[in-house]
Amino acid sequence: MPNPRQYQFDLPATGRPTDAMIDESWYPGIQAYWERSTSSRIFDAILGIKAVVIHATAGSSSAGAVSVMRDGSASFHWLVPDEDEPQHGQLVWACAPEARAAWHVRNSCHHPDVNTDAARVNHWSLGIEVVNRQAGNDAFSDWQVRATARIVRYCWAKYPNLRHIVSHAKLDPDRREDPGAHFPWAEFKGYVLDGSADNVPAVALNATPAGEISNGVIAAGCCLG
Ligand SMILES: [Zn+2]
Repeated sequence: MPNPRQYQFDLPATGRPTDAMIDESWYPGIQAYWERSTSSRIFDAILGIKAVVIHATAGSSSAGAVSVMRDGSASFHWLVPDEDEPQHGQLVWACAPEARAAWHVRNSCHHPDVNTDAARVNHWSLGIEVVNRQAGNDAFSDWQVRATARIVRYCWAKYPNLRHIVSHAKLDPDRREDPGAHFPWAEFKGYVLDGSADNVPAVALNATPAGEISNGVIAAGCCLG
């Protein structure tokens, strides 16, 4: 069986997507709860992001996962629904603003392979939870794995210093095993590195790339900084 405490890969220096879309919706009502279960980031909310941490919930429903945010005990940025939920195959749940530090890894956790052993992982990372029982043979669906990979590609396009994709188990090996031995890490990595499913609309792809623009015109009234 694969060991989730070894799950990690670093994004290559080349191949960063220019764009990658995710089908996401806010979890209903979560806006009333994220403020009490997240913190202001101590680093720049874009340039300070170095890692995405992959979790699995050890539960059977999105509602069960979200209850920890309602209780103010933990939080995460995205939640990937389980096979038997109607949102499966359709969308992932946004649960906290990316600009906030979610509480998905203990502050004391660190690893030399991940952002040079820095602690306070939540402040320089984003967290994805995948709904899975983490018991018996509850398999992750291919859609769950692809949806998780698409979130990572979206982050790769958006956060220029994002480098590390790592399991919760690697960061907290004494207390956590998620996303677990059943999470197909090698396939997941393949989906992250393969941009063929980025789903960027032609209307966006057809814009002139910024690097090819020679003369900009800024409307009167605008100013710098
Ligand atoms: Zn976790």
